Amino acid sequence: MNPINVAKFGGTSVANAAAMDNCANVVLANPATRIVVLSASAGVTNLLVTLAQGELDAAGRDAELAKLADIQHAILASLGHPAEVSDQIHAQLDDIRTMAQQASQHTDAELADRLIASGELMSTRLFTELLRQRGVNAHWQDVRQIMRTDSRFGKATVDIVATRTLCQQTLGPLLGDTLIITQGFIGADSDGRTTTLGRGGSDYSAALLAEALDAGSIEIWTDVPGIYTTDPRLVSSARPIPEISFVEAAEMATFGAKVLHPATLQPALRQNIPVFVGSSKAPAEGGTWIRASTESRPLFRAVALRRQQVLVTLHSLNMFHAYGFLAEVFGILARHRISVDLITTSEVSVSLTLDHTGSQSNGEPILSDKVLAELGQWCKVEVETGLALVALIGNRMSEVNGVASQVFATLNQHNIRMICYGASAHNLCFLVNEGEANEIVNRLHQTLLD
Ligand code: ADP
Ligand code: ASP
Ligand code: MG
Repeated sequence: MNPINVAKFGGTSVANAAAMDNCANVVLANPATRIVVLSASAGVTNLLVTLAQGELDAAGRDAELAKLADIQHAILASLGHPAEVSDQIHAQLDDIRTMAQQASQHTDAELADRLIASGELMSTRLFTELLRQRGVNAHWQDVRQIMRTDSRFGKATVDIVATRTLCQQTLGPLLGDTLIITQGFIGADSDGRTTTLGRGGSDYSAALLAEALDAGSIEIWTDVPGIYTTDPRLVSSARPIPEISFVEAAEMATFGAKVLHPATLQPALRQNIPVFVGSSKAPAEGGTWIRASTESRPLFRAVALRRQQVLVTLHSLNMFHAYGFLAEVFGILARHRISVDLITTSEVSVSLTLDHTGSQSNGEPILSDKVLAELGQWCKVEVETGLALVALIGNRMSEVNGVASQVFATLNQHNIRMICYGASAHNLCFLVNEGEANEIVNRLHQTLLD
């Protein structure tokens, strides 16, 4: 059999029946597509997260549940209220109501994941029915039977070896004449308990399934025709990039380009699977191909922006034993599985920002009170908020003369809080005040990328 294609559709692409119809057209246009991975319909995961946090009173819960039901009912109505799927959706909505009530009495991470996973379970049921109505032999697959994770609810880690075996056993025999529709974002631990991979994780799910099935390509269908030179919502002159390398695209995703979940390119890179990003609404507009290497390797490729950054500065309490200080601090962060993003140090203090990769699905803060208390035993902890991280992405940036002066000359009106440059040839990052971030991104784009 020729290598298959895995196609993933995001929340806006499956927001309603008309959007789902566009997705069906895209799926049917590529005969290599054998696996379809879906997000929850737009807005659904946010509603479920609110319910999982358990802070609403009964009336507040009812209001959120009504919004959820409206989204599902509108799609069911367009499909003509098919009996079997209507029953499945209503059963799921009943389960959500029960779990939301439980969450209001007692929140726990396992319950939150079971609740938050419902969005993908419903969108895939509805899309499978839509395809069947168009005469397609579509098979609904519960991804929890094939996506094996550990039990870290909210941000589970995938067991790649177990997932590969399960995918090959379960999906292998179906691939010939069936189109498989399954959920992104969710998985299950070895006890069968539902887990989630972190917000925006459906892109990553698609890449993991592609890796497990030795796919030849991955398509990420979203609401923009490709990866742009910066977020098109931020800069009107941003333009799509026809071709970009894995490394550059991974840097963009890591530093805030929401169009791809930051982990998506890891499986693609491991197996050298090209990834296409395009718009499900306008597939004819083309999009971006992400590959191992590209012909063009511009010095400046793109600007990414990540808001709501927290800068933590730790001052050692014991100036005379500064040599063990960094090891101690990083030991505490590692025990809490917090990874550090940017870092600058002096002999007795260290400033760092935290990695938001696949932030907890249930909205838990990365830096909990427990971590702060542990750090507080070793150092004075200062936490600054209201910052944004700007990353300039490109090639050979640490080797070319004058890069820093070119970038910072543009920004001489602004206060730059922290700079990281030189560790990677593909990025230069710095922190700025959140309120100035839009202007800075626009200015950089205009000077270096327009
Ligand atoms: P989906 O629901 O399909 O996963 P997302 O909302 O997660 O879609 O990602 C698509 C959005 O990412 C776009 O609407 C765009 O605003 C944003 N985005 C941020 N940076 C970029 C970029 N460099 N190129 C394209 N889109 C970007
Ligand atoms: N539905 C999930 C979210 O909103 C996963 C995804 O869309 O990728 O985070
Ligand atoms: Mg997304």
